[in-house]
Amino acid sequence: MAYQRTKYPPWSWSSSRKSTFRECKRKYYYNYYGAHNGWESSAPEEAKQAYRLKNLDGIYLILGSAVHEIAEFTCKIIDSTSKLPEEAKLIDKIRDNLNRAYAESKNPETWYSSPKQNFMLQEFYYGDGLSGRMIKLIKERMRKAVPNLLTSKSISEIIKDKCEIKIAESMDTFMMGNTAVYAIPDLVYKDKEGNWIVVDWKTGKEYDSHPAQITVYAIYIMEKFNIKAEDIKGRVEYLLTGHNRDVEITPDTVKKVRDEITESIKNMRKYLEDVEENIPGSKEKFPITGHTRFCKWCNFYEMCKEELESKK
Ligand code: SF4
Repeated sequence: MAYQRTKYPPWSWSSSRKSTFRECKRKYYYNYYGAHNGWESSAPEEAKQAYRLKNLDGIYLILGSAVHEIAEFTCKIIDSTSKLPEEAKLIDKIRDNLNRAYAESKNPETWYSSPKQNFMLQEFYYGDGLSGRMIKLIKERMRKAVPNLLTSKSISEIIKDKCEIKIAESMDTFMMGNTAVYAIPDLVYKDKEGNWIVVDWKTGKEYDSHPAQITVYAIYIMEKFNIKAEDIKGRVEYLLTGHNRDVEITPDTVKKVRDEITESIKNMRKYLEDVEENIPGSKEKFPITGHTRFCKWCNFYEMCKEELESKK
């Protein structure tokens, strides 16, 4: 589809938008409004800066994305050959991504001119690069995540029962009123009993918000394939530990999550000057967080530094 310039960003909702809104209103502003059109050469300097910083990546985020890529690749290989890919091949793919991020981070001029097309690690931008300890930790995580993926409950079940894979990594939306709600299920398959299993791979810690996130994906599956909540089971697979958590999907849990989304949309819209056009209030209406100890790990730190120091 041809790119169509809009003065303001299109309105939408996602679980990650909700968590950014909860974390820090100013971060939410920069991410979802301030950075808009910051890719244009004629954009105001602040929009360009917000857009660049939005595209910074942390090394753990790169690892997470690389693991998601190999999970998608694994599902596609199973779908076409009914076999697992080699573990060493998957590790090489992740290593290639990490090496690329490391190499490109040493070239700030290239990133500065095309921040979306090139990597810049936050650890290089705001710090001294990656310490030996960090590199060791990343390698350990990579070596745990890959075998845990290949022996996960979901992959083992697909192989054993020759389950039909319906979706392997997809980003799509469903509508709630006039809001497009983003759903990015990592894997959806049908088990031998005919249940639809919605899977989310995680490469970080276990959080209480994960079941609600899976339920958002379940609602998307219900709408897309016209099926009932009772026919769906959710599962979060924690690839660093090999644990998994089943998430019950029922009409009640679906209603609860729909209500939470409605409430979240209502709260976000309180910060808009014009709801129809998605025009935000001024930056100052989006306060900086009260939990400033996390600010030094935030992409937008350099834009807030002065204000943060004035509040000390
Ligand atoms: S640096 Fe702190 S105050 Fe500024 S956007 Fe990030 S989290 Fe919010």
